[in-house]
Amino acid sequence: MAILNIVKEPDELLRKRSKEVTEFSARLHQLLDDMRETMQAAPGVGIAAVQVGTLYRACLVETKENGVVELINAVITDSSDLREFQVGCLSVPGKRGIVIYPHKVTVRAQDRTGKGFTMDFTERDAVCACHELDHFDGVLYIDKLVAPVEADTDSEPESESGE
Ligand SMILES: [Zn+2]
Repeated sequence: MAILNIVKEPDELLRKRSKEVTEFSARLHQLLDDMRETMQAAPGVGIAAVQVGTLYRACLVETKENGVVELINAVITDSSDLREFQVGCLSVPGKRGIVIYPHKVTVRAQDRTGKGFTMDFTERDAVCACHELDHFDGVLYIDKLVAPVEADTDSEPESESGE
């Protein structure tokens, strides 16, 4: 495994739409393993492939119930319970902001072998899943702010960035 370089705002790559994963190969598995190591080293609780420079619809979410979950070609099929949440992003270092996200989502995705599954996420895990899936379409949380970005003074690991 290897710790990869994290792409940071305002790099235009972060604004690109990622592509569907069609080959569930050793190369994908290597990427997912490297993403996990990169996320844990940052430290963060979620990471999307675009953040390490690969335009694949693949991300990791560190959940409370199921540990690190790999979501490939993921889509949200149901969402509810919109609430404000303070988030950060590994690609927007040193800042946090308030965003409205659903606190209950159902996600349909594939695992690293291409097998389809459906998973429910709640609370912080739901916010994190929405945040990572936004990265698939070039959307950053700073596009959705309901309160201005502030310097990060909170040491609680709440969303993607734990710093
Ligand atoms: Zn992010």
